[in-house]
Amino acid sequence: MANIGFIGLGNMGGPMAANLVKAGHAVCGFDLSQTSLQAALDAGCTTAETASEAAADKDVVVTMLPAGKHVVGVYNEIRSAVAQGTLMIDSSTIDIESARIAHEIASELGAQSVDAPVSGGIMGAINGTLTFMAGGTDAALDAAEPILQPMAGRIVRCGGNTAGQAAKVCNNMILAITMIGTTEAFELGKRLGLTDQALFDVVSTASGQSWSTTTYCPVPGPVPTSPANNDYKPGFAADLMVKDLGLSQEAAAMTQAYTPLGGHAFELYKQFCDDGNGGVDFSGIIKVMQQAKKA
Ligand code: NAD
Repeated sequence: MANIGFIGLGNMGGPMAANLVKAGHAVCGFDLSQTSLQAALDAGCTTAETASEAAADKDVVVTMLPAGKHVVGVYNEIRSAVAQGTLMIDSSTIDIESARIAHEIASELGAQSVDAPVSGGIMGAINGTLTFMAGGTDAALDAAEPILQPMAGRIVRCGGNTAGQAAKVCNNMILAITMIGTTEAFELGKRLGLTDQALFDVVSTASGQSWSTTTYCPVPGPVPTSPANNDYKPGFAADLMVKDLGLSQEAAAMTQAYTPLGGHAFELYKQFCDDGNGGVDFSGIIKVMQQAKKA
């Protein structure tokens, strides 16, 4: 079993660290929030007073932080604490450039490193069923897999350094675009006299099919577990979707990729959040289509 330092014990990191403890690992956690530290203690972790203390002389250091600047900041902060040969796993969702810098710092320290962002949300973190999208050398990925296992439903090896973050931004860009398309279609169908159930019965088994219809249907009824049945309570909050779409647009600018629908999805979700809906599940964007008046 491994000695693990876990930095960032928030909504995702807290339950992920708890699952590592349940699997028999010794986990030393650090977070800036006292509430998160107490929850980690209650889950069987030990806690540290600084990020460096959590990272010192560990087999593995896992980070689960809000954004790239936090990850690069923490990686710089723990430079003198990380032992040679440590495996550094960053599971935060961050921009590609910060992920590249994090790998570079790890390499300077003689550490192995993996970028391994997740999908599956808070329930996936609690239940240990997250999908990890992992990037790194083959040796680093081999070392990371057994550590990720207790937190994972699925681990996908995406390629070399930063490939995990690349897969994450691409996936979530598709998700946002298909959700907007799905909400447009359900509202158009309604205005044409279709019932939601009839449209669902066709789309869910026809060429318009996607996860946004079959799992996360944005109207109440056809998929009883979708957030639409719970007044669009998250779920996956719209402000997190804006963050991920922002990362995809940064990545598109960096590579000069043409992503007009990704860009438009970013604008629509940003406006939705600016209108006070940041905490609403991202399928709640159907409200924008429902409120649109005929000229
Ligand atoms: P969160 O805000 O709940 O947790 C982040 C934690 O990091 C906080 O507890 C904060 O105190 C801590 N932190 C910030 N700076 C720190 C520092 N310098 N040292 C130590 N701790 C520090 O966020 P979350 O929902 O747990 O998300 C974490 C990451 O996972 C993000 O990158 C997010 O995009 C990604 N993600 C979240 C979800 C989700 O549904 N919440 C799903 C997939 C991916």
